[in-house]
This record gives sequence, C-alpha cells and structure tokens, in this order.
Amino acid sequence: MRTGEHLASFLLILISFAFVSIFINFTGQLNLYWYLYIIPIFIAAITYNLVGGLIVGIMSAGILTFWFYTGVGAGLIENRTVLGYEISIGTIIFLIAGLILGYISGKQKRQQTQLERLSVHDRLTGLYNYSYFVDRLDEEIKRSKRYEIPLALIMIDIDYFKDFNDTFGHEKGNKVLKDIAVIIKEKVRDIDIVARYGGEEFAVLLPNIGKEAKEAAERIRKSVELAEFEGDFEEPIVKKTISAGVAVYPVDASDDTELVVRADEALYKAKESGRNRTCEHGK
Ligand code: GH3
Ligand code: MG
Ligand code: MG
Repeated sequence: MRTGEHLASFLLILISFAFVSIFINFTGQLNLYWYLYIIPIFIAAITYNLVGGLIVGIMSAGILTFWFYTGVGAGLIENRTVLGYEISIGTIIFLIAGLILGYISGKQKRQQTQLERLSVHDRLTGLYNYSYFVDRLDEEIKRSKRYEIPLALIMIDIDYFKDFNDTFGHEKGNKVLKDIAVIIKEKVRDIDIVARYGGEEFAVLLPNIGKEAKEAAERIRKSVELAEFEGDFEEPIVKKTISAGVAVYPVDASDDTELVVRADEALYKAKESGRNRTCEHGK
C-alpha cells in the first residue's frame, strides 16, 4: 500500500470508530448499538490484517467495558444485568471478529500476491514469462519513443540443447536453464527485463541502451562459456554455450514486432556462423 492509501485507511478507521462512539453517546443506547463497532474492526482487518483487526477489536472491547463501568453513553442502564451480559458477549465477539477477519484478509492478500507472481513469472527459472515480456516490450517501446531514448533487445538461445537433454535427461536440462537464468540476471542491470521467451530461449530488454547492448550480450555469453553445469556420473561437469542476437530500437526497428524479428534474425546469424557468439542486426 502507498502512504496515501495508508493515511486514508487509518483516517477511515479513526473516523468510523469516533462516529460509532459519538452515535452511542448521543443516543445513549449502548445496549442497542454496541455491535456497530464491527465497522472499524472490519476496515482495520481488511487493511492491516491480523494486527489491525486485533488492535481495533481490543479498542472496541475496551471502550465497551469502560462505558459499562462508567455509565457513559449507557442510557438504559436500569437493567445492568442484561446489559452486562450483552457487553461481555460483545467484547468477546469483537476480539474474535478482529482475529478472524484479520486472518482471512491476510491470507487472501498472500494468495493474491502469489497469484500475481505466478501470472508474470516463469515457474522453472523465476524469470518473467513470455506474456509479461510482450506487455513490457510494448510499454518500453512507447517510453523510448516519448523520451527519444534507445531500447535494446537481446535474444539468447542455448546451443545444441537438444543433445544435452538427450544425453543427460530433461531434469538436468532444466537445471541448466535455471543456472543460465541466474547468470543472465547477474550480468545485466536491475532495471533490465529478463524473460524466458520460449523453451530454451531468453529475451533481455535493456531500456536506454543502444549499441552497447552487444557488450552486455558478450558478458552473458562469456560467463555461460566459463560456467560449469551438472552432468551425470560419467561426465559430472558439462560445458554449454549460448548464441545471442541484438537489435536496437529505433535504429534497427520501427516497432515492437520488428524489434523481435530483427533480434531473432541476428540470433539466427549467430547460429549460422558457428554458435557461441553474439551478432548484431545488420552486421
Ligand atoms: P541450436 O539451438 O544450437 O540450433 O540447437 P538446439 O538443439 O538447442 O535446437 P533448438 O534450439 O531447436 O532446441 C530446442 C530444444 O530445447 C528442444 C528441447 O529438447 C529443449 N527444451 C526446450 N524447452 C525445454 C525445457 O523446458 N526443459 C528442457 N530440459 N529442455 C527444453
Ligand atoms: Mg531454440
Ligand atoms: Mg537451442
């Protein structure tokens, strides 16, 4: 939540709490309206989960007890036994409601965060997934156009990966994909968008980077070349390489689709010319 939203929720809790208190005092009907405290409890629970629900639950229970003993707001105090009974129940209900609502709200928020994570991330590598990449590409192109800054795209494909799978199995192949994902992330800036584009293809978007993107691609390529991957009993350490293609908006392409095509063409050229290399569009 942003600071503004925090402030708004906090004020809403305070105002509703004050409103209920003033209303009960005004009507003098504590026995009829005590349950209205469920409103601030509810708001606190959905905003601040367990802690919020519990704190406002305790506050409400506290003010009920206080009023009962001081007589404030309890106009109908002639039947104190009945009121006392109601207040005890009310106090317990507030505490339980605060706890339950807070727990449910917290759990729902955690599930929502996890869902959001799953919807934009690739499960195997933890990188962004294809659909997130496509959305960000569109956004970044618009940003580049507006601010007249370049946007580079690096497409990466593992060399002879089918052979690796055939020799060491799919599981070990998955481990290589994860390791290479880590290497790529390490070699680019935090603001760069690293995605799993397809099976064993990765895409890296580098905002505000022009032809220097080739150096970034080379850093990744060399790092993969030096890395040691897990094989099997007979061949415990396996070397792998990648090929990369680089294209830059707006010099090589005029929109998002063309940028992908140009980077893909450069990648194809890197494969054709022997693999384990980086090629730029048009060179
Ligand atoms: P090259 O790119 O050098 O031309 O050869 P390659 O053998 O890598 O060819 P290609 O890029 O077409 O290979 C794709 C292979 O990647 C096929 C499949 O076995 C493997 N692959 C794709 N997705 C996955 C995955 O999620 N896990 C594993 N283990 N392998 C995958
Ligand atoms: Mg491929
Ligand atoms: Mg490949």
